[in-house]
Amino acid sequence: MLGRIFNIQHFSVHDGPGIRTVVFFKGCPLRCAWCANPESQVRKIQLGWNCGECIGCKSCVNQLGKLGCHFKDDGLYWNQDIQLTAEDAKEVSYICPTHALHAIGRDVTVEEVLKEVEKDSSFYAESGGGITLSGGEPLLQHEFVTSLLREAGRRHINRAMETTGLSRYEIFEEVASELDFLLMDVKMWSKTLHEKWTGMPNDVILENLEKIRRRFPELPILLRTPVIPGVNDDEKELSAITKFVRSLGGKTEHELLQYHRLGKPKYESLHRTYELGNAMLSDERFIRLRNCVRNLPQ
Ligand code: SF4
Repeated sequence: MLGRIFNIQHFSVHDGPGIRTVVFFKGCPLRCAWCANPESQVRKIQLGWNCGECIGCKSCVNQLGKLGCHFKDDGLYWNQDIQLTAEDAKEVSYICPTHALHAIGRDVTVEEVLKEVEKDSSFYAESGGGITLSGGEPLLQHEFVTSLLREAGRRHINRAMETTGLSRYEIFEEVASELDFLLMDVKMWSKTLHEKWTGMPNDVILENLEKIRRRFPELPILLRTPVIPGVNDDEKELSAITKFVRSLGGKTEHELLQYHRLGKPKYESLHRTYELGNAMLSDERFIRLRNCVRNLPQ
């Protein structure tokens, strides 16, 4: 069985307890306008191009004819409709000398992932860390993910997963039964706003969260709300989320995340438009909103 991932990141300290190795899965049911990993959204293997690393040798144009590479005034373009195979991806990495043009996405076995993850074993022992599955949406590849988590468990590796929560409940429950820690976003309370900014309503997500909380009362769950300017940065919305989260009980924690635009260059490399433009959220406004929800009566 193969899983499709686009990155394995070592030494993360923001994706669960301790020092984590994060496996990023490809494919997501949501299209959040602020997504910091836009390369995670589609399941197929894609091409990306970093202008700053391109030396203009045109090897891609001359030797990757199948991909339809061609330069326009504002950079390198290619045939977006092409279905890239693993062989195509290898050829791209071989042909482009600087990796300015690169394939995003590769198919891996459970053993290949764990071999990479176990390089960090000594850090897990010291910090209480382990593996975190992220994305994209790991639940879209639930059969592979369940096998990976089971095998990691057999090897005594702490297992966390970051999910949108948008899945058939039975799938979510099966995967959650293999977890030591769950991270999930509660992005918005308003169903209309959620659908407008992520492409999908949030009712299934919130229902799934309530059911998982009841089914696994001992599972530590960290819920996160990214505060996005012009989207959910208002007291009413954040207060409604906070009240819902507090009602869940159990080992549930909640934090607000400050908006950042670190993913914006990735949109350019994929020839996509970053919908939020230059929107900003000042430190002062974020702190004010955070204090507002912290001070809500219990
Ligand atoms: S092969 Fe790479 S470096 Fe050369 S022109 Fe193409 S993208 Fe640029």
